[in-house]
Amino acid sequence: MTDCIFCRIASGEIPAEMVFEGDEVLAFRDINPQAPTHIQIIPRKHVARIAEFDPASDASWLVEAVSVAARLAVSEGLDTGFRLVVNNGALAGQSVLHVHLHLLGGRQLGWPPG
Ligand code: AMP
Repeated sequence: MTDCIFCRIASGEIPAEMVFEGDEVLAFRDINPQAPTHIQIIPRKHVARIAEFDPASDASWLVEAVSVAARLAVSEGLDTGFRLVVNNGALAGQSVLHVHLHLLGGRQLGWPPG
């Protein structure tokens, strides 16, 4: 989708600080980090929100995304804790309509989230 900023990052049209590029998933540093480590993990496929998840066609990228998150947590030195977040919809604060897993760590993370 040409009007989707994360699709444009996936195609290379918009630069990002990539930390992983796989067959189905990309990971890049957030442009406005909310923690010392803040990485976006996204499917190459455009899926607007996790509520649209279809097990028949989306399972493989989700498995890759969670695997990448776990590996990045190790390489980022987040052994004492990290958080994976998926915001869905306006009330949850979703601002980019392309599914993304936030990998956050490197500081004490509050709970419950605000
Ligand atoms: P959300 O509010 O859950 O939709 O999260 C969207 C995230 O994408 C925010 O943390 C933004 O800072 C991040 N973001 C938006 N544009 C870019 C970009 N061009 N490169 C990296 N991260 C971005």
